[in-house]
Amino acid sequence: MVAGQRPDTEPLGGPAPAGQAWFRPLQQALQLEAERGFDDLQGRRERFSAFLARQCQEAPAGLNPPQRKVLQELAAAYTGYGGLSMARRQALVRRTRQALHELQRALEPPSPVAPPRLRLAAEPDQPRPEPLRPGATPALYPDTPLADIRGVGPRTAQKLAALGLFVARDLLRYYPRDYLDYANLVRIAALEPGRTATIVATVRRTNSFTSPRNPNLSILELQLQDITGRLRVTKFFAGKRFSSPGWLKAQQRQYPLGATVAVSGLVKETPYGPVFQDPLMEVLESPNAPLQNQQIGRLLPVYGLTEGLTAERVRAAIQPVLAAAAAWGDPLPAALLEQEGLVALPTALTQIHQPANQESLSAARRRLVFDEFLLLQRGLLQRRRELTSRPAPALAPPAQALAGTRACGSLMQAFLELLPFPLTGAQQRVLAEIRADLAREQPMARLVQGDVGSGKTVVAIAALLTAIDAGCQSALMAPTEVLAEQHYNKLCEWLPQLHVSCALLTGSTPARRRRELLADLANGNLQLLVGTHALLEDPVQFARLGLVVVDEQHRFGVTQRNRLLDKGLQPHLLTMTATPIPRTLALSLHGDLEVSQIDELPPGRTPIRTAMLRAGERQEAYGLIRQEVAAGQRAYVVLPLVEESEKLDLRSAVEVHRQLSEEVFPELSVGLLHGRMASADKQAAIRAFARGESHVLVSTTVVEVGVDVPQASVMVIEHADRFGLAQLHQLRGRVGRGAAASHCLLINDSRNALARQRLEVLVHSSDGFEIAEMDLRLRGPGAVLGTRQSGLPDLALASLTDDGEVLEQARRVAQELMASDPELRRHPALAQVLADQRQRLSQGARLN
Ligand code: ADP
Ligand code: MG
Repeated sequence: MVAGQRPDTEPLGGPAPAGQAWFRPLQQALQLEAERGFDDLQGRRERFSAFLARQCQEAPAGLNPPQRKVLQELAAAYTGYGGLSMARRQALVRRTRQALHELQRALEPPSPVAPPRLRLAAEPDQPRPEPLRPGATPALYPDTPLADIRGVGPRTAQKLAALGLFVARDLLRYYPRDYLDYANLVRIAALEPGRTATIVATVRRTNSFTSPRNPNLSILELQLQDITGRLRVTKFFAGKRFSSPGWLKAQQRQYPLGATVAVSGLVKETPYGPVFQDPLMEVLESPNAPLQNQQIGRLLPVYGLTEGLTAERVRAAIQPVLAAAAAWGDPLPAALLEQEGLVALPTALTQIHQPANQESLSAARRRLVFDEFLLLQRGLLQRRRELTSRPAPALAPPAQALAGTRACGSLMQAFLELLPFPLTGAQQRVLAEIRADLAREQPMARLVQGDVGSGKTVVAIAALLTAIDAGCQSALMAPTEVLAEQHYNKLCEWLPQLHVSCALLTGSTPARRRRELLADLANGNLQLLVGTHALLEDPVQFARLGLVVVDEQHRFGVTQRNRLLDKGLQPHLLTMTATPIPRTLALSLHGDLEVSQIDELPPGRTPIRTAMLRAGERQEAYGLIRQEVAAGQRAYVVLPLVEESEKLDLRSAVEVHRQLSEEVFPELSVGLLHGRMASADKQAAIRAFARGESHVLVSTTVVEVGVDVPQASVMVIEHADRFGLAQLHQLRGRVGRGAAASHCLLINDSRNALARQRLEVLVHSSDGFEIAEMDLRLRGPGAVLGTRQSGLPDLALASLTDDGEVLEQARRVAQELMASDPELRRHPALAQVLADQRQRLSQGARLN
């Protein structure tokens, strides 16, 4: 309890407590913790348990002593959360959810919008209320607590609270995770491998156990029968928390002998006959719950459930909410819906929960997906508006160029003339897009995507020179020192001839040099600064910064941009990435940026020959390396990790370096490059390889970003199955940069068919966009982007793989709305939904 807080014992129903703002973040934290498997989630500032312990101490006013005691006990329990077993954590989280739910109900003030509650659900010892006459239905609002809904009742409400569902709106958005399709009923004897089917059969026998070999795997087996035959259906539960005998028995009890069940899923062939893979199961009729005939012949929704909560109960709870939701209206105007061919929101909600048929289900889904994307795009466009609201220097050469030695815009022109090649069509187009942006006062916020080797650097330099032509300074930022130095060296080939001053600033720039450099930057003598993020650090002051180009990063972070803004700078921003992502992902992540694509490679490149080898065929790879080195070329050997890890059994770079240099290639010089080396050692290793002093470079993925050695013609990638496709494609881009034919050998020692299939994509395609698209399909957006913190939006229904078309539609509508009604004055309901969403997101972000 907070020291000095009044020991007030205000009776319930007293003044409204300001507690609602206290509940929501707690409830979200609890939900996240449950979703992420109870591993004491690390938030930005603190862990889940610390957050809970602290929040429970800071109880809202208006609680009576027993209620406060409950919270104190919870707070105490959370200080020891880290030491609890999984089951106990789970139990504590559930207990907390229920306690909060009860508290919230007790504290609930009479809502100013909703009329006072007319009637609570019937309690067992009270006479059942009369059937309601039309017009006498108790009002049901989006934020009506579930326990107050007729037909739900407090017990079910508690169970729903454990799923994170507290009020009517939550239940409505608790979409089915799948549907059983009774229209496609099949008999057991007629099951065909490779197809999705639903059977209806009787339970003959059940069994459940934890695998004797693997304590993390529990199994539920049902023996089913219909008039054509018998079938064994197995469900697997992976994870320790499912291995408790009590839990397993409870699972088994859900399928009593003699019950009629529906089983649905993909049918697979096995030596023992066809089986269902990861089936959906639903009890249709058991001795105590007679079959509802009207279900046969339609799509039956299947919900993610929790212990003691049957699907039937959830369906029954949703029913009255759906009925009430018809009166809640639609945030989108009817004219817009008609124009876009979308169904009304109440219809969509009804049909997603109780689809009449496949068509109405897909129309419902389309509308709800549209809404998810519309909110997302609207948010991004809003951010873009904020991003570009303060004016940047317009870098239009004719108006702005200083009276210098050259004609207007000519530094850039002179640079292009110095190049030994003409720009490709794609380079020209993208450069023109950039220059058009730079000429405006509205700051540029643009992303250039281009495959490895598509020539982004040249475009970047031309853009930087455009800014300098206009009398501004410009900066080029790279994610690593290696890459920054490489850019700097490239620039040094051209800039002295153009009389442009240029310097390198990284973490390892000596203090003296750094001081000089900062002075030159502040007085405007230095025109172009190349560096790592060090160049955003506090003491760095620019005289007149016009353009920042960020190379090889997904994007310029909000924090980084704010740091510039804090320095009073609002430069134009250009981000370049060689990891092209599919358009759906790009729109969802970078919808606040304009996107340009360099979708053409410079002519004369010989395609890289890519092949997949098994671990046993490594000698072939070594043979190829010997052959290429003898012909004057060089080779990379890439590994996923730096040090031998017992857990992962990966051949580490250090160990492989030793083995290759001592045993395999004693006659060659073998270099080593990994992320834990000091920066100077890294540079030395790359330099030696670039100069041909080492022939083979054993490396971790440090080489992924931008390292450019044209004589390298072979890349061998160990444990290729452990890399993402986009990353492999990036790695592969390190070879094939010269004239010689190049090779990439992927060593795959996994037996996993999906891994093999993924690597095949790389063998057959050299188009970064196509590869990214396949990666998205095979592994999903989270995996494509690498991390959970990738800023992916939370989408309940929408799929970035399948709903690209709806995304485009929603983006267009969002843009139209942004143009015609930027403040949403004429769309107040939509503005409200957005405001609610923003509030939910910012609360979620506190922990996330
Ligand atoms: P990336 O897009 O991967 O950053 P780079 O900018 O490093 O690619 O360019 C790869 C190589 O292609 C460099 O050696 C560069 O000089 C060369 N290059 C760039 N543009 C062209 C062009 N239009 N014609 C021929 N070669 C080009
Ligand atoms: Mg590059």
